[in-house]
Amino acid sequence: MESVNPATGERLETYDDHTEEDVDRALDRASEAFGEWRDRPINERQVLLSRAAEVLRENQEEYAELMTEEMGKPIVEARAEVEKCAWVCDFYAERADEFLADEVLGSEPESRSLVSYEPLGTVLAVMPWNFPFWQVFRFAAPHLTAGNVGVLKHASNVPGCAKAIEEVFTEAGYPEDVFTTLLVGSDTIDDVIRDDRVAAVTLTGSEGAGRSVGETAGSEIKKSVLELGGSDPFVVLEDADVEAAAATGVQARTINSGQSCIAAKRFIVHEDVYDEFVEEFVAETEALSMGDPMDEDTDIGPQAREDLVEDVHEQVEGTVEAGAELRTGGERPDGEGNFYPPTVLTEVPRDAPAATEEVFGPAAAVFRVGSEEEAIEVANDIEFGLGASIWTEDLERGERLARRVEAGCVFVNELVKSDPRIPFGGVKNSGYGRELAEQGIHEFVNRKTVWVQ
Ligand code: NDP
Repeated sequence: MESVNPATGERLETYDDHTEEDVDRALDRASEAFGEWRDRPINERQVLLSRAAEVLRENQEEYAELMTEEMGKPIVEARAEVEKCAWVCDFYAERADEFLADEVLGSEPESRSLVSYEPLGTVLAVMPWNFPFWQVFRFAAPHLTAGNVGVLKHASNVPGCAKAIEEVFTEAGYPEDVFTTLLVGSDTIDDVIRDDRVAAVTLTGSEGAGRSVGETAGSEIKKSVLELGGSDPFVVLEDADVEAAAATGVQARTINSGQSCIAAKRFIVHEDVYDEFVEEFVAETEALSMGDPMDEDTDIGPQAREDLVEDVHEQVEGTVEAGAELRTGGERPDGEGNFYPPTVLTEVPRDAPAATEEVFGPAAAVFRVGSEEEAIEVANDIEFGLGASIWTEDLERGERLARRVEAGCVFVNELVKSDPRIPFGGVKNSGYGRELAEQGIHEFVNRKTVWVQ
């Protein structure tokens, strides 16, 4: 496995893949570790999680640089990602015991009943490269604290991050094998899911990977959580604060150089404010600086891999061929690195690639609509259902429309974000299950009913 700097093409490091025997040993050791870990008082597991937050903060710069080098995220965003990981650790360190406390259902004189939350065992986490620390901590903070043990199969282009995350837990004082990184390709995952020592699986990644993991887990009757792609609508109604919507919209599209599942991808704008919105949106997009991700002033770094740039460019070209107007960007720059410029496509037809597919790069598609009704229809006219954003000065209207959007979460007058305090996940082809908050920590536990008479 190799780390390659996407800004320069330079090979950073080569890692040996784990062999079949290594994987076998790791699963044995994880099972053994579970026996002891599950019986520890939850407060001890919470203390260790607080310690993991400290380790993250102590080494923030080192981890941020590692992410930026391996997948090209602008360094300022990488630092923020490390801090967010520490936050999710703090959150569950403070509240996991409350979320997992017995729920007493009835306490009659003749009987008592309750639900207790018990860990399942070894949970396999298949994770992507786009938020290489956050996606893993979003999984590990709740589920290790619930008493499960974790085995990570990270994306093949971020092996350095995968190793560093394992070290965070070691340095924090976790018992050996409570969290293990496997350096393996995705072709081994089927066997790992089928292994009797693995109880459940979670995947964040593409729809194709989700289908494969979900199918295998289903055939083994193992619990799975899938957090897949999205093509989130960003609806701007005629009574919106257009300037704020355009500024936040650009941020929502281009965060992480456009490589986020919850990035706003389809901008659905009422005709009364369409021209004003487009003008602001294009101006804000053109003000972004693209370049060296280690430079603190860079807004847009390289895309993580060459094939991802090719995919985005093909979708942009296909959308123009379908009849959209290219307002800015759309041309691959010369020189080294996997760069793709922030791009705006307007008057996008509803059958163009940017209307029907997920664009996992910094290219925005703007649609013109004539009414609130049409806006909701366009918003829902997609196979995905992860997040959505609605802009209106009428908050009751915003809330009413939020209930009509087919998505796992809807934000009114704000961009879609993941936050430890609120549940996160999708519907339709964006997957199932929830992460974060109380709902997230309940995904990989046996909600055991106990009746005593
Ligand atoms: P993938 O879905 O291929 O990769 C995500 C993770 O899944 C990686 O660890 C990968 O391993 C693994 N994986 C891939 N295929 C399988 C499989 N059949 N069975 C089990 N595990 C598998 O994403 P890409 O890196 O190819 O990115 C392409 C697209 O995925 C993007 O354009 C975007 O649409 C979507 N994506 C969505 C993300 C999200 O946050 N929801 C994050 C990243 C991507 P390996 O790296 O070894 O192939």
